[in-house]
Amino acid sequence: MNKMSSRDYMAREERYGAHNYHPLPVVLERGEGVYVWDVEGERYYDFLAAYSAVNQGHCHPRIIGALTAQASRLTLTSRAFYNNLLGEWEAYMTRLFGYDRMLPMNSGAEADETALKLCRKWAYKVKGIPRNQAKIVVCNGNFHGRTITIISMSSDPDAYNDYGPYTPGFVNIPYNDTAALENALKDPDVAGFLVEPIQAEAGVYVPEDGFLAKAATLCKKYRVLLIADEVQTGLARTGKMLACDHEQVRPDILVLGKALSGGTYPVSCVLADDEVMLTIKPGEHGSTYGGNPMAAAVSMAALDVIREENLAENAEKMGEIFRSEMRAIRSGMIETVRGKGLLNAVAIDASHPVSAWEICLKMKENGIIAKPTHEHIIRFTPPLVITENQMEDALTRIKKAFRESGV
Ligand code: PLP
Repeated sequence: MNKMSSRDYMAREERYGAHNYHPLPVVLERGEGVYVWDVEGERYYDFLAAYSAVNQGHCHPRIIGALTAQASRLTLTSRAFYNNLLGEWEAYMTRLFGYDRMLPMNSGAEADETALKLCRKWAYKVKGIPRNQAKIVVCNGNFHGRTITIISMSSDPDAYNDYGPYTPGFVNIPYNDTAALENALKDPDVAGFLVEPIQAEAGVYVPEDGFLAKAATLCKKYRVLLIADEVQTGLARTGKMLACDHEQVRPDILVLGKALSGGTYPVSCVLADDEVMLTIKPGEHGSTYGGNPMAAAVSMAALDVIREENLAENAEKMGEIFRSEMRAIRSGMIETVRGKGLLNAVAIDASHPVSAWEICLKMKENGIIAKPTHEHIIRFTPPLVITENQMEDALTRIKKAFRESGV
């Protein structure tokens, strides 16, 4: 049998799949730690890490062990019955993150939807906002997923256009603007403020130091729930277990996903205290797969790995190396190098004739795969298990690709 080439695999997807993505032309078939291999056997450093889902590195043996062991015992019960692992996972999560309760879901978008529903329930049952009047403040440039409700608050035309009619009840303000936030919170019908501690998809926008802490104070002042979407920033990515930890902020509702399973299985959740979580009663919200025993087993292993391998500390240290070496490139074509921990981006000057996409293609030739977030911004988010030697080798390759692209 003739072996298929990368070109064949890509052509097959192009022919039979929906065209809702524009992947880098590389066809991967194996991964281990920070590395992935394509179908021709070429090895690459994965500098996307599945949008920060693979913080623990590809196919981490401990997580795969938990997954396969549980897969041959019991995979799914639905929540119509109890299973022996959900309670253990809930206890693990609430102890680790310091909340009364957890509600498990699957994708990040579902967990954000759950947070929005909890916030609205709390608005009516606890805060006393008149029925159907509750508003939730969100930020321009946000990315919380792809559902109709979530894209209703998006300011990105690609995410938003031609999907109306939209879900009402959101108030958009500029990101990183506490004056605008306070102004919005003065409306007594506002129940929540949903925010990413760093806007990752928008291009890794890091707010000013103190923004989150000020937002938390304002939310308290106006009795509004602070909802932190840490689906991408959480779980050691920015150099702390949560990005909110950089400012000792404890959101009222915490949303987690992606690396909660180390890239093996869709697992997400929402954490909150009784006053919020117990507003939802049996039958009022749920998901067939949410809280299944595979998710529980995998998630506990994924979190054990983050803690025992000190991935937050490593992210902090490797992130410093990455930013300082990239900033040392003397080029007028690099507009900025920004980020926290291992959530970083390099913005290329808009006048540069070579696009971020073309630079990514050049990096691929040099054994690094990464993706632009927008036309001139490249995100660099390798698995957090990357070692210093690997980082130095990767930086040599990245800088070579930049030079070859005229940057
Ligand atoms: N929230 C944030 C901050 C994200 O970055 C993402 C995905 O990139 C999501 C939510 C949506 O997660 P999912 O793709 O698992 O639905």
